[in-house]
Amino acid sequence: MTWYPSATKIELQPESGAQPAIVPDQFILHSVTAPWTPAQIEQYWTQPGVVVESHFGLGYNGALGQFLSTQTRADANYLTNRRANGHGAVSMESASNHGATDLWTDAQVQAIIKLGVWLHQTHGIPLRISRTWDDPGYGYHRLFKEWNPNSHSCPGDARVGQFKTVIFPAIVAQAGPKPPATGAGGTPAPTYQPFPGASWFSMGRKSKIVSAMHDRLVAVGCNKYTSSANKDTIGSGDKASYEAWQRHLGYTGSAATWPPGKTSWDKLHVAKVV
Ligand SMILES: [Zn+2]
Repeated sequence: MTWYPSATKIELQPESGAQPAIVPDQFILHSVTAPWTPAQIEQYWTQPGVVVESHFGLGYNGALGQFLSTQTRADANYLTNRRANGHGAVSMESASNHGATDLWTDAQVQAIIKLGVWLHQTHGIPLRISRTWDDPGYGYHRLFKEWNPNSHSCPGDARVGQFKTVIFPAIVAQAGPKPPATGAGGTPAPTYQPFPGASWFSMGRKSKIVSAMHDRLVAVGCNKYTSSANKDTIGSGDKASYEAWQRHLGYTGSAATWPPGKTSWDKLHVAKVV
């Protein structure tokens, strides 16, 4: 269960307890066609006959509510939550005018960027706009008919333009790898454990790096462990979980098999062991 620290938790029942787990690998933006607060959006989901919902609701003033864990299925976005691999989309409704024709406010833009960065860092959603409806990445509801069977204008043209020119580039800039900080006043970039080389990953090897990797694989939703005992020792749970991470990044075939490679390792952001 994962709740975003910068949102107000307004847990939606019975959906939160009843809907299946997902591995989140997309972030899809919506406009709700009403000038609602997060609490009003949550009230709407509880109306009789309303059978879809999103994880987040965003008010005009940037206030954000979270209704479901990002690892629980939300039923907006149609087919992308019905994928055979159990992956799904994190979705967000946002206050808009009744025609969904207005721009997101500055406060909404900042909140969407911040959440987009957190989703990359927490769940490893890749920093790209989804290329197909089942491709991990970022997008908006009307981008694919498999997400939006009614072809309704969600969001409107103004917000699609903002997504492409402002919001998505800012998410990439703030979440992507940063050059090392230099000079006075610079904050040091986070340091991650360097890739130890494919041959390092032999079954039975014991190291704090293995524990750190285990923690990250769980955090990004690739938990295939059956136990946390001997967490510092490479075993079958590490292999299964790491291969889930490789598939999550879009690798297939031999590129999605143990041992780890440098590219997928660097994206996992394993904490540096000192
Ligand atoms: Zn929508």
